[in-house]
Amino acid sequence: MTSTLADIASSVREGRTSAAQLAREALDRAQSLQPRLNACLQIFDSHALEHAAAVDRRIAAGEGHKLPLAGVPVALKDNICLSWGRTTCASRILQDYASPFTATAAQRLIDAGAVVIAKTNLDEFAMGSSTENSAFGPTRNPWDDSRVPGGSSGGSAASVAARIVPVALGSDTGGSIRQPAALCGVVGLKPTYGRVSRYGLVAYASSLDQIGPFATCVRDVALALDVIAGHDPLDSTSTPAAHTAATAEIENPVAPLVIGVPRQARSSANHPAVAQALDNAAALYARLGATLVEVDLPMTDYGIAAYYIVALAEASSNLARFDGVRFGTRAALKPGESLIDLYCRSRADGLGPEVKRRILIGTHALSSGYYDAYYLTALKARRRIKQDFDRAFTDQGCHAILMPAMPEPAFRIGEKTDPLSLYLEDVYTVGVNLAGLPALSFPAGFAENPRLPIGLQLVGPAWSEATLLRVARMFERETDFAAQTPPL
Ligand code: GLN
Repeated sequence: MTSTLADIASSVREGRTSAAQLAREALDRAQSLQPRLNACLQIFDSHALEHAAAVDRRIAAGEGHKLPLAGVPVALKDNICLSWGRTTCASRILQDYASPFTATAAQRLIDAGAVVIAKTNLDEFAMGSSTENSAFGPTRNPWDDSRVPGGSSGGSAASVAARIVPVALGSDTGGSIRQPAALCGVVGLKPTYGRVSRYGLVAYASSLDQIGPFATCVRDVALALDVIAGHDPLDSTSTPAAHTAATAEIENPVAPLVIGVPRQARSSANHPAVAQALDNAAALYARLGATLVEVDLPMTDYGIAAYYIVALAEASSNLARFDGVRFGTRAALKPGESLIDLYCRSRADGLGPEVKRRILIGTHALSSGYYDAYYLTALKARRRIKQDFDRAFTDQGCHAILMPAMPEPAFRIGEKTDPLSLYLEDVYTVGVNLAGLPALSFPAGFAENPRLPIGLQLVGPAWSEATLLRVARMFERETDFAAQTPPL
C-alpha cells in the first residue's frame, strides 16, 4: 500500500475501487498476519464490511465530497472507545467491557469515511514501552518477530508498518506513539495537549494523555490530524482555538529554519545507529539551509523521575474505577466475604503486575507525609522541564528540536526484565508530555545486523504541528527511509 490516504480516498470516491473492497483486503491481511504479529485484539469483519457498504452507499448518493477519508481502513488502539465490540485496554479486568459510546477522535475518522477494521494491542492501560505488558500476549515487531514493536501503542504501529491499515490511532502519555513509531519504521504524532479530544480515551494520566495518528508518511499523518483535531465540547481540555489544516502547507519548506539539537541528545548511552541517524539528519537539514544550534535541556535527567511520579499519581486515581462494581469483571465472593473483599479480589484477579505496581507507587506518592516529598517535587521539576523547552524556542528561536525518539532500536521480547530498565527507554519522550508539547517521530535510518528502523523526533512549541510536519516532510522528500517496508 504505497498510495497516500488522499489517493486512496479519491480512488474510492471515483469508483476505481470501493470501501468494501479495501475493507475486505485489510481484514484479510489483519487475519493472515495475526498469528505472526498479534497486532490486533479484535478484528471486526462483518461489522467493518457493513460500515464499508454504508460508505459506498454515501458515495453513490453523491456525498463523496464530504468524505476526505472515503473507504480508508483504520485501526484503533484498544483504549479508544467504540460503541461496538469491546474496549479492553489489554486488561483482563476489561475483557468484557462494551463501551456505550464512541470516542470523538474515532467518530471524526468514521464521519470522514474511514472504516474501522480492528482494535489493536497495547501495554495494559497503556503502561509500558514494549507492548509486553498486554494481558493478551505481546505484539511482535514486523521487522523482526523476535523483537518488541515498542509501546504502549505497539499494535497500532505494527499494523501500519505491516501495511494492514494505512493509518491508525494511538495514545501518547509519555512516548507511546513516538516510541513504537520509531521501532516499527513509521511516522507518529503526539499532538499538543488539548489539540485532540480525549473524550472516549480510557484515562491513564489525564494531564499527559493525547490521542494521535500513525501512518507510513508525513502527509498521511497531517491529513489524519486535520480530521481528528479541534474543539470538542465533551472534553474541557480540548482547545477552543480553530485548528489550521496541517495539510495545506505541507509541501512548503520552512525557511528560514532553526533546528536545535540538545546536548543531552548526544548521550553516550545511545545506540551507535541512533547517534549516526541524529548526525545524518542534522547534516541533511544543514544542507537544506537550516541553521543548527546546540540547545541545553538540563532537566532531561529528571524527566523520568518526574514523569513516573506525576503519571502514576494520576493513574492511581484514574484506575480506582476498575473495582468490579462500577467497571470491570467482578470476582466471585465466598460466603462471609465483604464488599472490601470484592474490590480486592476483583482488582487482584483483573489487573496485571505492572498496573498493580504503578497503582501502589502512585498511591504512595500521594499519601499524607509523602505528597510534598514526591508529588509536589515532581510538579516543580515539571515546570522547569517546560522552561528548558521554552528557552530553546523563545530565546534561541528554534522552530523545532531534533532528538532521538528512543535510545536504541527494537530490543528482544523478554530481554528487559526489571521495570526500571524499561522506564529508562522513555528518557527522550516523557519531557514532551510533561511540557504539553507536540512531537513527531519519523523514520530516519536503520541499524544493521539485524536490520531495524531508527526513529528521530521533532519537538515544537505548543500548537506548532503544521510546522513540525513541514519540517519532517523536508527530510522525507530527501530520503527513502519511510518508504521501506518490513520483510513480511
Ligand atoms: N512508557 C511510558 C509509560 O510506561 C509511556 C506510556 C504511554 O505513553 N502511554 O508510562
